[in-house]
Amino acid sequence: MRQKEDFTAQRWKSLRRKMAEAGADALLVTHLPDVRWLCGFTGSNAALAVLPKRAVLFTDGRYTVQARQETRGARVAIAKQSALKEACALLADHARHAAFDPQHTTVADLGLMRSAVQPKIRRGFFVPLQSPLVSTLRMVKDAAELARMERAAKLGCSLYQEIVRRMRSGMTEIALAAELEFLARGMGAEGMSFKTIVASGARSALPHGRATTAQLPRKGFVTLDFGVILNGYCSDMTRTVHMGRASREERAAYDAVLQAQQAAVDAVRPGAACGDVDEAARSVLRKAGLARYFTHSTGHGVGLEIHEQPRLAARQQARLEPGMVITIEPGVYLPGKFGIRIEDMVAVTPSGGRVLTQVAKDWMEMEAGEGRTRAKR
Ligand code: ZN
Ligand code: ZN
Repeated sequence: MRQKEDFTAQRWKSLRRKMAEAGADALLVTHLPDVRWLCGFTGSNAALAVLPKRAVLFTDGRYTVQARQETRGARVAIAKQSALKEACALLADHARHAAFDPQHTTVADLGLMRSAVQPKIRRGFFVPLQSPLVSTLRMVKDAAELARMERAAKLGCSLYQEIVRRMRSGMTEIALAAELEFLARGMGAEGMSFKTIVASGARSALPHGRATTAQLPRKGFVTLDFGVILNGYCSDMTRTVHMGRASREERAAYDAVLQAQQAAVDAVRPGAACGDVDEAARSVLRKAGLARYFTHSTGHGVGLEIHEQPRLAARQQARLEPGMVITIEPGVYLPGKFGIRIEDMVAVTPSGGRVLTQVAKDWMEMEAGEGRTRAKR
């Protein structure tokens, strides 16, 4: 039996305040992480009809028991055919318009939604939200969420320490990813936040190189980017290590990325514009002559989903707030040669930023073939 803690009361309150501000008297919530965040339901089929004074969660017969155990702040209704259509029919009975999040509604969904509403009121009944309500609220984590995210991040760090000991030149990227994922499950992870990235040798120049049958080199970088899901929350971290002796160019590039990453971590504080945090990393790489190889944004929000708001990219005006959890992950990618990325999860605190992924990111050279590490400064 699940613990009956009502962590959702404050969330419902915030949502209803947002709805009033947005002039929405009814809201349809179908994006599963939004549903989970609001009412606690973790099933794979759900449509939540939210009205000013009440809410109803529609799901299907597979979840009869689970929905009643998990759901807070909403009545549970088991749909006979379509949870989505029945939620819409209820909204149409009690409201003149219903807002929905167009970013998480397919054209097919919208067709179903409209078909649930009488033709005479159908026109203009569903109103797409200009900016999403629930995912905006989800940016700022409460204390219970922060505790979960910290645990997920810690698990990621323990995994990294263990997997680094098992790395050998000659083993395939897939074998390394498999060991990492097997260990993760053994340590209690519900799953991985995304497909594990192992990019070795020249492949490290691919920012999102998924593990392949390529073998870890005797000489060259290996980038590991992975995350676990623990209590529903995602972790996300990247470390890049070097197998064998590095060239001067490789070492210099690593130092520049590390410096850029640290500069961006140091720029995290409440009120900082996301674009300024991005610029903190980018300007270090510019001085090192590497800015043109930094081809993605500096970071992203993380939580129930691996990629959430806010985005930390050039010129982003959004400002950081205490309770946000973001990644800081600059990298450089020299096509055909090598790539380096370093990523931490950082919680925005009232006075600055707190790194959740507390595990070494200093230069690390592995003795090829032995799997022993030499941390060098
Ligand atoms: Zn990552
Ligand atoms: Zn990331």
